Amino acid sequence: MILAYIGMGANLGDARGTLLTAARELSALPGVASLVLSRFYRSAPVDSSGPDYVNAVAAIQTSLDAHALLDRLQAVENRHGRLRPYRNAPRTLDLDLLLYGTQAIADTRLTVPHPRMHLRAFVLRPLADLAPDMQLPQGGLPQLIEACADQALQVLPD
Ligand code: AMP
Repeated sequence: MILAYIGMGANLGDARGTLLTAARELSALPGVASLVLSRFYRSAPVDSSGPDYVNAVAAIQTSLDAHALLDRLQAVENRHGRLRPYRNAPRTLDLDLLLYGTQAIADTRLTVPHPRMHLRAFVLRPLADLAPDMQLPQGGLPQLIEACADQALQVLPD
């Protein structure tokens, strides 16, 4: 089993409801043994447009290999009606594979660790809920969060 972290975001429709449903769908996938969800955060769009995002991170234990997991993430995105009319368009659901164990992957489909995760408070803050002592190649989570441009995150009440 590999411990993988999935970044989740939505900014159209019932964004929080979509993330909860997507988390349930991920935890029900064959090859996914457990899922723990961070708190939910509200953030202004970064490199995107439209309403505020709701973001969270899920930690899963999985026997799927990284590419099979990406296939499943994209299938869940597609089920939620994700359209890609243009780059960084508003999206019903965005699922990113942030970390896959300690593996580094760089091929035409997949870059892991996710190449921009260390720059984004909307990823790092929920990640720190689940793994406060985690070290990324660029440093520890508190220092990386401090250096992020997008500081104005709001924790959503349960
Ligand atoms: P996006 O439209 O932002 O969700 O990006 C999806 C594209 O990024 C797909 O073509 C994926 O193959 C590619 N990609 C590369 N690395 C990752 C990753 N770590 N997680 C999710 N998608 C990735």
